[in-house]
Parts: sequence; C-alpha cells; structure tokens
Amino acid sequence: MACPETLSRPFVYKSRQPQKTLFYQAIQKELETWIVSCREDIPHYVEEEFRTFLKCGILSYGFARAYCKECGHDFLIAFSCKGRGICPSCTTCHMARIAAHLVDHVFPKAPVRQWVLSFPKRIRYFLHHDSSLHSCVLNILISSVEDFLIQSVLEDFRKRSNLRIGAVTFLQRFGKALNPHFHFHSCIIDGLFDEDGLFYPVSFSKEGIQCVQEKIRTRVLGLFQRRGLLEGDSASDMLEWEHSGFSLHADVRIEAKDRKGLERLLRYCARPVFSSERLQGLGEGFRYILPKPAPDGQMVLHLKPQELLNKLAQLIPPPRKHRHRYHGVLAPNSPIRHKIIAFANQEPASLTAIKEENSHPLLNIPPSSIPDGLKSRESKKPSRASLYRWALLLARIFEIFPLICPKCSHPMRIISFIQDRHSIRKVLAHINEPFEPPVISPARGPPEMEFDYSQ
Ligand SMILES: [Zn+2]
Ligand SMILES: [Zn+2]
Repeated sequence: MACPETLSRPFVYKSRQPQKTLFYQAIQKELETWIVSCREDIPHYVEEEFRTFLKCGILSYGFARAYCKECGHDFLIAFSCKGRGICPSCTTCHMARIAAHLVDHVFPKAPVRQWVLSFPKRIRYFLHHDSSLHSCVLNILISSVEDFLIQSVLEDFRKRSNLRIGAVTFLQRFGKALNPHFHFHSCIIDGLFDEDGLFYPVSFSKEGIQCVQEKIRTRVLGLFQRRGLLEGDSASDMLEWEHSGFSLHADVRIEAKDRKGLERLLRYCARPVFSSERLQGLGEGFRYILPKPAPDGQMVLHLKPQELLNKLAQLIPPPRKHRHRYHGVLAPNSPIRHKIIAFANQEPASLTAIKEENSHPLLNIPPSSIPDGLKSRESKKPSRASLYRWALLLARIFEIFPLICPKCSHPMRIISFIQDRHSIRKVLAHINEPFEPPVISPARGPPEMEFDYSQ
C-alpha cells in the first residue's frame, strides 16, 4: 500500500462526489425505510444494487492512487460499483464502453440501420418476464429482416448461398417515463455477407419495412398462441386491428464512413433509462422531468420518496441476463466473424490501409486483394471490451484525459490500490478527507416522509 508520507502533493480526484448529489442523498435517506416497508417483495439482487451504489465513488470504501513520475503529483480515485441499473456513473460508463467497443472492434465499415420493434401492451408483460420467450421473438425479428434483405439484394447476388445478416440488438425493458415497456433496438448492417465475408449492399422502400412488420406480427402472435399465452380468438382479433400495437421503425441509417454517428447511435441504444440529472427535489418528494412528453402529454413525474425507489427497483435488470445480443456474422459462433470484424477501425494501421483503398473495403473485394496490413490481422483476436481502461472511457465521455498530469502534462500511472480499512483511514486522514463513509439513515416508522428535498 502507499505510505501516507509519500503523498507529497495531496490532491483528491474531485470529478465526482456522489454523496453531494440529490440522487445519492435520496437513496441514503430512504433505502432502509423502503426495505422495511416491502422486505418480502425485494429480490436480493435489487437490495444489493442499492447498497453497492451507496459505496460507488466514495473514498472511504477504497481507492486507487494515480502518480506522476515526472513531478510527483498524485491523486486518489475511488472505486466504482459497476451497477447495471441505477448508478448514474456506472450505467453511463457501460454505455460508453459498449458503444466504443462495438465501433472499434466489431462493426465493419459498412452502413448500419437501426430497427426498433415495439409490441402491444397485451403481450409486453410476457416478454418482460420470460427471457426464453423474448429470445424466440428476437429470433423472429432477425430472421424476418434477414429474409427481407435477401429479397432486397441485387438479383445476381440473391442466389449466393449462405447470405447472412450482421447485427447487435439491445434489449430495452423500460420507456422514457420509467414505465415497463419491453422493446428491441437492433443495429443491423445494411447489407449481407456471403460465406467468404464479401459484402452485398441492399436497397428497399418504406413499404418493404411495412411488409416485414406484418410478417413479424403474424409470426409473434402465432408463437403466443402456440405457447397458450393468447387464445386463438384473441390472436385472430389482434391480426384484424388496424393499429396492431406492433411497430417497426427503420428510418435511421448511418453511412459507412460516419463512425462517430454510429457511436452516437450505439450509445443511444445502450443508454441508461434513468437520468439522475432529471431528478429535482420538491418538498418532501421529487419531480422527474421526462425526456419527451408521454403519450398523454405528461412532461413531469411527481414521485414520493418510496415511489421513486419502487420505480428504480424495477429498472435493475436481473443478474446474468444479457443487455445486448449478437446475430449472424457478428455472433460469437459465426465461422466468418473474425473476417468481418477485421474491418472495424481497430488500430490506426487498419484505418490507413482502408483509406488507401479507392473502393469500399467490404464491397466485393476478393480476399487476394485485401491489403497486406489487413490480411495479417485477420487471424488476430480483437481485444476484449474489458481491456478498455477507465481513463480512456472518461476521455471519450468528457473529452479529457484524466491520467495526464495536470501539473506537468506527463502520463500518470496507477501505482497502488488501497482497500483495507486501516490504510484507507491513514491515507484519508493525511490529506484531511473524511474517512467515515456517509451515514445511511435508519428505517423510520410512519409518517415515512420526513426530509425536505427542495434545493
Ligand atoms: Zn456505480
Ligand atoms: Zn506531473
């Protein structure tokens, strides 16, 4: 561990002090009361998520020390909770990480279209709670779009065998008003790949998309009927409805060269559903500003503290459930995945090689004409998303590079991790930082509302 005496220029990393935010204080004051009031109904992982969130970014629970070899400057970086549902910092970090990984290591330089599929209220409940069911429905979406793209490719190429789609789908469980609303955002490469990894562009009309929607509606209702989740009459009635509740949108298309646009789209698809910046204190409760007006015109949610925690609890995804899935040539078991992802802009060398090509790098170039620099990388395994350093991620979010020394601009290094209570106390005492963690308010009996959250 670091000896406190070596912290010659004490400087605490101050980019984030979660305990000073309204959101943190709301959880800090209300959690125990909420747990007591609904103990029976709270899954273990939900309680765990709230409790680890209260430790996220708090130095008293441990930290890393960054140090500049050139001038001796150092600062401390608190650990994060890696929460999947409510932590504003960790969910934003996940969004940035996954979008950066997909752009840099997965999606080839080809056009990508976003396909958004939502469902009638009547069947959303089943999709929300049954992962094997929503996997089947996702397969229906992907195979229907794949069939449609095969119909839309130039006739000469249609006969090629094994034309495959390439896609990543994000499973969104909630709407903008924090309401349960299961739907899919699929980012699908706008074209097909053959078994050699050659790319075939497609073109189609809006009417074509409508046909895909109809096909999906029929297949999904058939699936529900076969599983006994819908009566035969109900399924037939729903097929007759003019506005079926199924909606398939595919208007957003990102061009092959627009990698920043692709990253923005992927961030949107992977975004956290809850934003602590939209939360405001209002007397003994809160108001949550909706990003868009709800269908009934509502712009604001008024929430009592316990209602806020009820809403947040629903947003926490069950453990070990995927938040995004890969399909077709991007699926982990695809025999040509390595060929396709070799065309993502992984390293400056590949960018240069691709720029030197006059034609599109994926457009029917036989393997023999692939630039040497790219060929040699085909067999190389890409780095995993987890290899992203948090510093790079912060740089992508805030456009700063926090591990550059603010005093002399030289790179800084993480030189130690401090986790035991005694050492934490010693270091924090040395730099005059509080070493006791924020106090979590005990459970209160009725009346439950006690604090004034107005700011
Ligand atoms: Zn966190
Ligand atoms: Zn320095």
